Amino acid sequence: MPDAPSDPTCIFCKIGTGQIPCHKLYEDETVLAFLDIGPLSHGHCLIIPKGHYVTIDQMPPEAVTACTRLLPGLSRAVVAATGCKGWNILQNNGKIAGQAVDHLHFHIIPRTAGDNLGYRWPAGKLDPAQAKVLVEEITRAL
Ligand code: AMP
Ligand code: ZN
Repeated sequence: MPDAPSDPTCIFCKIGTGQIPCHKLYEDETVLAFLDIGPLSHGHCLIIPKGHYVTIDQMPPEAVTACTRLLPGLSRAVVAATGCKGWNILQNNGKIAGQAVDHLHFHIIPRTAGDNLGYRWPAGKLDPAQAKVLVEEITRAL
């Protein structure tokens, strides 16, 4: 993408420019997909934009689209290669959400029975009054 931002100190920018090697799965002018070096499961891989964006709210929609358009095909390829029975797509924004590398990335994490990764989803109950306020606040900010 022309004029995409970059950060010379960023490890994923360095992978994007080829300064640091990776186990490459796919590359075009704007995105790169490669195996995660610390996999949570067999076949865990990452999709990054070549431009340096920390969190998704900083990205132009076309840079998001360039990454997300890979998700169906790369998911199919990972399923075909690993035989996994399901997979999680994860994208962490901010340290509190688990982001360790400050260059946006999508994880594809294959799941198999007994993989011990677990799944925490402690669902609450939406309060109707709070929902009304939230809808007003979020739609006003949109
Ligand atoms: P997150 O916690 O969402 O920021 O995830 C960062 C991911 O990047 C982790 O799963 C790391 O294992 C992975 N990672 C860090 N450095 C590299 C690298 N040089 N090559 C491939 N994956 C990496
Ligand atoms: Zn970067």
